Amino acid sequence: MTKLECHVNSCANNSANFCCLPNIQVSGAMAFNSEQTCCSSYVSQQAGAFSNAAVGSIPNESMPVDCTAINCSYNAGGSCAASSICISGSGASEKGETSCLTFHQS
Ligand code: SF4
Repeated sequence: MTKLECHVNSCANNSANFCCLPNIQVSGAMAFNSEQTCCSSYVSQQAGAFSNAAVGSIPNESMPVDCTAINCSYNAGGSCAASSICISGSGASEKGETSCLTFHQS
């Protein structure tokens, strides 16, 4: 489990800088810096409002994080092994505008 702080306040899954999903997927198979990563679990608030796939509104402070950023030193076989991570992208209008700030090139 990884402690997760998320500043993507435009995501439907976000509540007060925490994520309400049970787990997330970070992408960045070719990433060599944090800007080249993103949270693939991002859902725009508009899409969330029109979807029946309602997520809970209870923030999860810790969760398993699947991650394809194999160049990150915290990547352990497709899972994040960092004790805590931070996702940035305040005001993001798509997942590509989010990133994992904790990425550290191995
Ligand atoms: S951007 Fe990702 S980590 Fe942040 S609230 Fe949305 S789904 Fe959760």
